Amino acid sequence: MNLSHIEHIGIAVKNLEEGIKFYEEVLGLKCYAIEVVEDQKVKTAFFQIGQTKIELLESIDPDGPIGKFIEKRGEGIHHIAFATEKLNFSLKELKEKGVNLIDKNPRRGAEGLNIAFLHPKAAHGVIIELCEHPE
Ligand code: ZN
Repeated sequence: MNLSHIEHIGIAVKNLEEGIKFYEEVLGLKCYAIEVVEDQKVKTAFFQIGQTKIELLESIDPDGPIGKFIEKRGEGIHHIAFATEKLNFSLKELKEKGVNLIDKNPRRGAEGLNIAFLHPKAAHGVIIELCEHPE
């Protein structure tokens, strides 16, 4: 599979402004980007910490994945994203291993990354995202 590091941790928040405030004022991180990802029905805020980012996710549609997640489980960690050099190869490997995937093919995520989600049933209740920096 050849994953290199944790690219980011996705955290579902009810209110992005309040989330940003906590990460900036309490934890002392700096929000460097805010981006709407229509495809996932979210507004995101990014913080860098070492090689890893924190991605806060606020739903922009109650029927979107984050809206549903918060309704069911409340705020909290939503997914862990691993960096892979070759997303297509990683997906192929997962398919060969019969892993349950949400995305059978890569799609475009925040920050222009190519991403794909594994089904949480395949990974002990954790939503795993693989992401690849486009060349
Ligand atoms: Zn993510």
